[in-house]
Amino acid sequence: AREHPHHPLALFDRRFGRWMQHQDQLTQQLRQALARAELRLHLQPQFDIEGRLRGAEVLLRWQHPHQGLLAPADFVPVAERSGLIRPIGAWLMEQSIALLAGPLRGSGLRLSVNVSVQQLHDDTLVEQLDALLSRHCIAPGHLVVEVVESLLLAPGMEARLAKLRALGVEIALDDFGTGYSSLRYLQELSVDEIKLDKAFIDPLHQAEDAPLARSIIAMVRTLGLRLVVEGVESAHQVDFLRRQGVDLLQGYHLARPEPPEAFLARLDARAAA
Ligand code: C2E
Ligand code: CA
Ligand code: CA
Ligand code: CA
Repeated sequence: AREHPHHPLALFDRRFGRWMQHQDQLTQQLRQALARAELRLHLQPQFDIEGRLRGAEVLLRWQHPHQGLLAPADFVPVAERSGLIRPIGAWLMEQSIALLAGPLRGSGLRLSVNVSVQQLHDDTLVEQLDALLSRHCIAPGHLVVEVVESLLLAPGMEARLAKLRALGVEIALDDFGTGYSSLRYLQELSVDEIKLDKAFIDPLHQAEDAPLARSIIAMVRTLGLRLVVEGVESAHQVDFLRRQGVDLLQGYHLARPEPPEAFLARLDARAAA
């Protein structure tokens, strides 16, 4: 019956077939994207509670020849499945370090780069970073690597993160509170920064208070870790977070991800102020 064109499974097969074809096509195009210089990095500014610029998160974009500017959700899964995330991740790291070594040198600003599971499992990541950092003489504490919580449970991860920290790279725990987070990990693992997921401050769109966010913030502060809140979309949230004493804010209300030129223009504005 599945062969009958109107059978629900036949429909599924056709859709799945098309999806597979699309994935294959994307993989082919992504393979060429690096060589054709179609990948971009965007920077989303991070501010302290006094409104001073303190750094940025590096976010990957793909200037696709036909589909316009693609966000990571459109192609990072394909990159991960195909293994292309490794060369892409290496490229992104090199670009980020070049920014720190060049236009950002002396600015005191930090860059945070997302690192996927596959990259962290790659034994050469630490060597790559070591080579890049020493070639460019980046002072410790200016490069932050963002990892998601679930990664910390993988065997051998602790040792790997320790090696990164020994290079002067800081570790941020991304999307905190959405995964396996166990408070125990926070104490046992050596991370420098916690990024509180947007979901925790979303209730502030409707309510005056966000008790869960409030208590997590208090806890992270007790541990003495740097706390970044992401997904800040309103002035009300900023007020709340300022009162709670978080360290850094990131979100559309303050600034959207932007091309490096726009971000660097902020430095000139800052110098002129
Ligand atoms: P993430 O690490 O949680 O990054 C934050 C995402 O939230 C970004 O989406 C950013 O544009 C978005 N965002 C920032 N402020 C707001 C806000 O106020 N409201 C809302 N609704 N969204 C906000 P983006 O750039 O689409 O990235 C999505 C995810 O893709 C990232 O989530 C990260 O997991 C992944 N990603 C991005 N760049 C890279 C990369 O270079 N390598 C790897 N492996 N993954 C990356
Ligand atoms: Ca991130
Ligand atoms: Ca995040
Ligand atoms: Ca996320």
